[in-house]
Amino acid sequence: MTKRPDTLFLNGELVPYENATVHTLSPAVKYGALIFEGIRAYWNESQEDLYIFRAEEHLDRLFESAKIARITIPYTKQELLDSLLRLIISNNQKQDLHIRINAYVDTDNGAMDSTEPISVSMATLPMGRYDTKDTGLDVCISSWARISEAAMPPRIKSAANYHNSRLALLQAKTDGYDDAILLDGNGKLTEGPGYNVFLIRAGRVYTPAVTNGILEGITRATLLTLFSEQLGMHVQERDIDRTELYIAEEAFFCGSGKEIKSIASVDRLQLGDGNVGEITTRIREAYMDVVRGANPKYQKWLLPVYN
Ligand code: PMP
Repeated sequence: MTKRPDTLFLNGELVPYENATVHTLSPAVKYGALIFEGIRAYWNESQEDLYIFRAEEHLDRLFESAKIARITIPYTKQELLDSLLRLIISNNQKQDLHIRINAYVDTDNGAMDSTEPISVSMATLPMGRYDTKDTGLDVCISSWARISEAAMPPRIKSAANYHNSRLALLQAKTDGYDDAILLDGNGKLTEGPGYNVFLIRAGRVYTPAVTNGILEGITRATLLTLFSEQLGMHVQERDIDRTELYIAEEAFFCGSGKEIKSIASVDRLQLGDGNVGEITTRIREAYMDVVRGANPKYQKWLLPVYN
């Protein structure tokens, strides 16, 4: 369950959670003029520290989203990082967190092309451990196509992009599935509504390329490294057909929030024996060790909050 923190960061100050409001006529609400990041932090019990996972990379992506969306963030990356640490410490949070950073056009009744003022908020939400009993998801191929670089670039994390994700997810749930995978206009795999996708076929690992209409996931990038360095497997990034997914032995979603979640079936076609596959299990264990600080080789990806 997500519990509310006492305070969050809003425009340079730590304010009570309830005070972080936005006008109903702001461009952020009216036009989805908002870009954001979602970051995880993991509490390590034995080291008594909280580790923010790949904070630098998430902030880099925030500034890339801002550039493309023509939003000027009125802080430096270092100022945001310092404020984030201050926020967590002031809330005395010693548990797993999901961190949400928003930057948005925040003026009442602003015009469609208004670009100021920009508000920035950061919230550090307690997030429980993901269920370790992973039975795999039953997913469908959505009849909604993924948004494209030609119209709404999926490369950026903008709130407006999630309208496409919501349509796919709501349709999937209505039709009795757990989740959805979207294809691009050419019928090639892109990603899930809020996570990237990998598949394993004949012992080889595949994922759509960054030019296949996806968000350039930081978990995805992490797994490319871990597959190579920890499992000795090379991941092929290329166009993937829908039917390649149907005949895969294993597939999984990955993302900061989702972590690594196995896919049991696609369009009611079972993958492998329907259980969590061996390679999915191994990469998931490698990933969870890294994010929680149990693998010293990847300490460079962790920003310690307390020590
Ligand atoms: N794709 C989409 C559409 C997402 O919203 C997310 C979650 N941010 C991801 C992929 C995974 O990205 P990351 O691993 O950086 O969380």
